[in-house]
Amino acid sequence: MKIETTAIHAGRGIDPATGAVAMPIYLSSTFERDPDGEYARGYAYSRERNPNRAALEKCAAALEGGKEALAFASGLAVLTALIQGLEPGDHILAPDDVYYGFRKVLGGVFAKWPLEVTYVDMTDLDAVRAAARPATRLVWIETPSNPLLKITDVAAIARLAREMNAISVCDSTFATPVLLRPLEHGIDMVMHSTTKYFGGHSDVVGGALIAKHDSYLFERARKAQQHGGAVPSPFDCWLTLRGIDTLPYRVRAQSAHAQLIAGFLAAHPAVERVHYPGLATHPGHAVAKEQMSAFGGMLSFQVSGSAEAAIAVAAKVQLFTRATSLGGGHSLVEHRASVEGPQTRTPPNLLRLSIGLEHPDDLIADLEQALAQ
Ligand SMILES: *Cc1c(COP(=O)(O)O)cnc(C)c1O
Repeated sequence: MKIETTAIHAGRGIDPATGAVAMPIYLSSTFERDPDGEYARGYAYSRERNPNRAALEKCAAALEGGKEALAFASGLAVLTALIQGLEPGDHILAPDDVYYGFRKVLGGVFAKWPLEVTYVDMTDLDAVRAAARPATRLVWIETPSNPLLKITDVAAIARLAREMNAISVCDSTFATPVLLRPLEHGIDMVMHSTTKYFGGHSDVVGGALIAKHDSYLFERARKAQQHGGAVPSPFDCWLTLRGIDTLPYRVRAQSAHAQLIAGFLAAHPAVERVHYPGLATHPGHAVAKEQMSAFGGMLSFQVSGSAEAAIAVAAKVQLFTRATSLGGGHSLVEHRASVEGPQTRTPPNLLRLSIGLEHPDDLIADLEQALAQ
C-alpha cells in the first residue's frame, strides 16, 4: 500500500457502532470489565490503553514500516522513556548538533544518573567508530539535523551500531516517513516529535516511538508510557491522526517550496550561506539524494553580517511568523542562537525557516522585501 493510503486508513476504520467516518474521541478513562473478569474488548483504563492512542500507534507503525509504535505526550517524553530504560554505566552516542532539548534532558533531568554521553559528528564515520565504548548501548541520530540540516548516512550508522551491540534510534522529525524510512535502512527505532509534521497544524504536542522489532529498550519504554504515565490525551491523539491524513501531500508541497526558496536565497546578495540538503552545494546532498525521496520543508540561512543583521531580517518579515517549532501550515522564522542560549554552536547570523503551506511566490516576495536594505 502507498503511504497516501496508509495515512488515511491505517489504525482506523468506520465506527461499527454508529457508522461514523471520522473516528470518535474516546474520553472514557475506564472501560467495562466482562462478566468473566476479562477485558475482551481490549481496554481497561486509559493510562494503559485508549482507543484513540491505539489507532495513532497502529498508524505510526504502518507509516514507518515498523512492528509496533508507542505514542507519548511529547517528543522529549520519548527520549525520557528511552533513557529511563538504560542501565547504570551505559554509554550513549549522540550527534554533536543534536536537537538542543536532548542535551537539556540528558544534562538536566538525568544529570544525577550514572550515564555517559559522547557527542560526536555523525557524518564522520571514523569519529563515530572511535567514540564507541564497550558500554555503548544507544546510538542516537537525527537527520536532517537542526538547524544546519546536516545529513547522516542512516544505513552506515545502523551497521556501526550493530557492530557495537547498541540500539540505533533515528529522530526522523524533519524527514517524516514520507521522505525517509530509517527502519528500511537497518535502524532499530524511529522517533518523531509528532508536534511537527505529523500533527501538521501547530495545535498539538506529542511524540511517537516506532520499533522495527522487539527489544528490551522498547519494552521498557512501553512501561514508562503505560505505568509511568507519559501518555498523550485521546484528543491529542485524535488531532495528530487527523493531521496524518494529509501528511504526504503537505510534506511534498513543503519540500518543493523549500527547494524554490533555498534557490532564491542562495542567489541573493545579502545572504552569506544557505543550508538545505536539496542544494548541490550542501555537503550532505549526495547522501540525502540516496536515502530521501525529497529534501524536506526545513532550511536555514546566514544573513551577511552579524546577529543583528539576521534579527533585523526576522523583524521585517510579514508572512513568516517569528516563532519556534516547525511543520505546520504557517511559515515560521527563528533566530536559533537566541533560542539556544549562550552555549549554542549555531552561527549567530543564522535564521531557520519552516516552510508552511502558503504559495511559494508570496513567501519569496516576503523574504525579498525583508532582505532589501
Ligand atoms: C521539536 C523536536 C523535538 C522535541 O519534541 P517535543 O514534541 O517538543 O517534545 C525533538 N527532535 C526534533 C528534531 C524536534 O524538532
